[in-house]
Amino acid sequence: MSDSTCSRRDFVATTAGALAATTLVPSLGAQPPVTRPMGAVKVTAVKTYKLRQALYVEVQSDAGVSGWGECAPNNKDVVQVFVQTGLVQHVVGRSVWDSEPIWHDCFYANSDLGPSGPLLNAIAGIDIALWDLKGKLAGVPTWQLLGGRYRERQRVYGSFAVDGGRRMTADQAARKAASFVERGYTAVKLRMQIRERNLNPHPDPTIPYVKAVRAAIGPTVELLVDINNGYTAARAIERGRWLQDEMGVRYYEEPTSMQQLHELAQVSEALDLFIVAGENEHSRWQHRDLIDIAKVDVLNPDVSKAGGITEVKRIAALGQATSKRIMLHNTRPGILTHASLAVIASISNAAEYLEYSDPDDYQSLTALSAETLPVVNGELVIPSRPGLGIELDPAAVARAVVA
Ligand SMILES: [Mg+2]
Repeated sequence: MSDSTCSRRDFVATTAGALAATTLVPSLGAQPPVTRPMGAVKVTAVKTYKLRQALYVEVQSDAGVSGWGECAPNNKDVVQVFVQTGLVQHVVGRSVWDSEPIWHDCFYANSDLGPSGPLLNAIAGIDIALWDLKGKLAGVPTWQLLGGRYRERQRVYGSFAVDGGRRMTADQAARKAASFVERGYTAVKLRMQIRERNLNPHPDPTIPYVKAVRAAIGPTVELLVDINNGYTAARAIERGRWLQDEMGVRYYEEPTSMQQLHELAQVSEALDLFIVAGENEHSRWQHRDLIDIAKVDVLNPDVSKAGGITEVKRIAALGQATSKRIMLHNTRPGILTHASLAVIASISNAAEYLEYSDPDDYQSLTALSAETLPVVNGELVIPSRPGLGIELDPAAVARAVVA
């Protein structure tokens, strides 16, 4: 709401109960008050903010209210250009309530470029912002517009990465895991980040790192392990048995290449572990293939990668129809966590955990909002303020833009 005439809080207070109202009357400001049917509110601009640790999107409306979204942070320059040159023309001037046709038009205008990657990342930022905006206009939390709330809180796992052993030593990983437990987390995830370009490494860092982390957190804290595409099927099966039998692991994420769904199927069929995948599959069709071909147990879409709230709700419905749980991939506190919680609140098949990265590692983002959701007894409370429920400071966002 960089050039609006009233704060979001003023606006929401002024329009409390607006679902029953027929007009919107934002509070007084430098410009005349706007009065129009709530259903006639249109998008006036789409702004992008490249930050050090995120790419934010602001969808402005002619009601003087903005919605905020977030694109996945991989190659922010490419995705920012995609939003500004490939999508904006399909959004500005449209009704803010038409988020699904807007999604459709953004996708099919660009789908020749591939049904995944930058396109879905870019759409995600706009889609999340529209859902935030709609909730603010209606004066209700976004999850209310998504169908209501199945739960009031969500258990999280503290997630951290070791970059195949290059980012931190096994001792440092153990201390990081222990620090989550000291702060009340009941589960942690060790992301090995071995990657396909380093397939089946010798020696395998997973063994010393998992041993160190398990020793640090004790036997009762949940330990999830993410290989990040680093094994062939045979190695994945061998290591999976060790993780289950010796290390008490239940969740085993992306053990094989994201390009090799038949290999992942071999792993799924061989092991009793919960096989998790989906952070690299960005559309409903790719998640269909994870279900049909790879036979995963848990779908792991990321709201900021997989086309936003609209597409992840579709993926959740696919999962609901096939008895798959949805454990959202979530690498950022702030907008993305709030958007993830809105989805989780509104789906019947949310998994027992949401991923949550240490907010202390993302202080450039947590500094932009009034508060960071606290983890209490290992859980986040699902916000009930209008929209996504995040109180961003637009001026602080603008100041945080990087070249
Ligand atoms: Mg992962």
